[in-house]
Amino acid sequence: MKAALWREIPSVDELLGRPAVAALCAEAGRAYVVDRVREVVGQVRAEMGAAAGEAEARAALESLEPRIVDAVRRALGPSLVAVINATGVLLHTNLGRAPMSAAAAKAVMEAATSYTNLEYDLEAGRRGKRDVHAAALLRQLLGVPAVVVNNNAAAVFLALHEMAGGPPQGGAGPGEVIVSRGELIEIGGSFRIPDIMARSGAVLREVGTTNRTRVADYERSLNERTRLLLRVHPSNFRILGFTERPSLEEMVALARSAGLPLMEDLGSGCLFDLRPYGIQDEPTVQESIRAGVDLVTFSGDKLLGGPQAGVIAGRADLVERVRRNPLFRALRVDKMTYAALAATLRAYLSDRPDELPVVRMIRMSAEEVAARARAFVAGLKALEGRGWKFELRAGESVIGGGSTPGQSLPTTLVAAVHARLSAAEIETRLRGATPPASSRLAPFAATALPVIARVEEDRVLLDLRTVFPEQEPALRGALESIASP
Ligand SMILES: *Cc1c(COP(=O)(O)O)cnc(C)c1O
Repeated sequence: MKAALWREIPSVDELLGRPAVAALCAEAGRAYVVDRVREVVGQVRAEMGAAAGEAEARAALESLEPRIVDAVRRALGPSLVAVINATGVLLHTNLGRAPMSAAAAKAVMEAATSYTNLEYDLEAGRRGKRDVHAAALLRQLLGVPAVVVNNNAAAVFLALHEMAGGPPQGGAGPGEVIVSRGELIEIGGSFRIPDIMARSGAVLREVGTTNRTRVADYERSLNERTRLLLRVHPSNFRILGFTERPSLEEMVALARSAGLPLMEDLGSGCLFDLRPYGIQDEPTVQESIRAGVDLVTFSGDKLLGGPQAGVIAGRADLVERVRRNPLFRALRVDKMTYAALAATLRAYLSDRPDELPVVRMIRMSAEEVAARARAFVAGLKALEGRGWKFELRAGESVIGGGSTPGQSLPTTLVAAVHARLSAAEIETRLRGATPPASSRLAPFAATALPVIARVEEDRVLLDLRTVFPEQEPALRGALESIASP
């Protein structure tokens, strides 16, 4: 019986003549597709040879064409694709943190596709400095000079390198930086203050204990090698209970009396007050600078809502020293980052922060999310006959990305259960969501939107706070596409 099946295996030429495969040749080049066709035919032959029965062998044979299409698509399609973030984590580091505003994206597009005055002074007609492009906007917002580097880890590294590390200064040996043991944080598994400090050449002097550090602890550790007092915003955790930490004002007073600069790694770079939205512990950059901190560092793609970047802002003489450090050249950003950052900062300056998706998501009221969730579930009625059940439940969205630990925004979750699929299976299929069959013939069109969802208590939970309203049809499409049992 199998012998008849072997004769049904199409030749390479026949496969190349089929419309779906011919379309691949037009997109990816015939030679490349021929190689993939040979490869997949080889795999299918092997599977047919090993098949236990005719049904299994036929299934392998019938998978031939879709597998060829998949193989070419996977290999040549983009690796970085848009996804739907239904987790309710606004700044999900694994999902690329803040989505940019439309204005920022447009600015990136324009800068990317043209020559620019990146390092050219148009008035003087000669070489200029690239850091002017964000400097004026940052100065207007923060009231102090600032420079931009690749990310906040780079900002902390560069600032420490300049202030206390690097080559020995005047034969004095490496400088010391005093930091509380309660602030020796790790973020995202790869940013550890002690490691960054060691690489910068600065010597870490830990003071206090994990839960309690007093001003006197800092005072006792001051010595002639001390170059900097460092304060780190413990952004992704909180120590609860018996804790003590000097106020920012006390730290500023201590730094002044010791004649040393105080640096604060703020992490998130929050530029507006989150207290009206129920988020208590997120200091703004402006508050730190007003309190008298000499240097602050923060990220561009966390609460700021812009591109990946790190900002070092503060006292003019110190920022200028950082800018002159030779490593600034190695950590600098490109024209697209300046374009996106400037467009993002303009949203704050013109008092239109709602242009920024992250700000919009934070300000979205509990009622608004609830109304969207109700309407979304109402639109899924047709699926209920096909084994699905959707329910609304009260839940919480979190800011994430190392911001506002332990605090959350009230939300309404859509809980999805299916009669024949476990929550884990639904979650996996949502992640692998592919374009509808109608767009399969255009294998490189980016119509596929994998959905990232939460699973709790054997339920898939979807939080629409982090789903763009424009993505709701794609989310519905993903649910529809996995419904077939
Ligand atoms: C997130 C964070 C960092 C690292 O910032 P990146 O932009 O990811 O490099 C450093 N310090 C603190 C306090 C943070 O929250």
